[in-house]
Amino acid sequence: MATIDINTLDPQKTVVVATGNAHKLTEIEAILGQIMDDCRFVALGDLGDYPDPEENGETFYDNALIKAQAALDETGLRMAVADDSGLCVDALGGDPGIHSARWAGEHGNDDANNDKLLLQMQDVPESERTARFHSTVVLVTRDEDGEEILAGNGDCEGTIAYDRRGTNGFGYDPLFNLADIPGRRMAELEPEEKNAISHRRRALDDLVSKLG
Ligand code: IMP
Repeated sequence: MATIDINTLDPQKTVVVATGNAHKLTEIEAILGQIMDDCRFVALGDLGDYPDPEENGETFYDNALIKAQAALDETGLRMAVADDSGLCVDALGGDPGIHSARWAGEHGNDDANNDKLLLQMQDVPESERTARFHSTVVLVTRDEDGEEILAGNGDCEGTIAYDRRGTNGFGYDPLFNLADIPGRRMAELEPEEKNAISHRRRALDDLVSKLG
């Protein structure tokens, strides 16, 4: 249900954020708002019940762009931000990658996804368990002349553990040993700690460096 009337928004100063996740909206607003400080950031879901577009791209960039462009098509606004992210495991040739959310079948079934990862990695030795979370964030700006697309990329390096640990975060966080903080799993970080080093944070910082 819409909580913001789209007709009250100034299209020149509104950035629609194509996410249903309130934490992502806050994070994106805090970081991009440093540069785009006269803009208001609004979640797509607060403007209406729009259907999710089919994420049928072949890369994180493709899928982030599909989400941002769909948000502009649906709302008629001029600026949109979207991100796409996932876990890339070297021993699995980069899988689950863009398929991270539904790797075990059902979209967003974190438990089943982690079970599948543990199984596929059970015989892989410590030295070959390297992996990274990746995020691509895109900002699309439309006007009469067309579209401008800016993208930022970020990675968070680590290794895949042999068991789950930690209760914070989501997705593959309980299986992810952080390279930057030896001995800690991603799921053992407080939200502020994770936001400071996450792949999304780094992708947003990269995007900000291109805006500035
Ligand atoms: P999304 O692009 O944020 O929707 O993420 C897609 C999928 O990638 C999620 O469903 C998770 O399985 C995985 N993923 C993305 N970011 C993270 C993270 O920060 N921690 C754990 N899993 C993540």
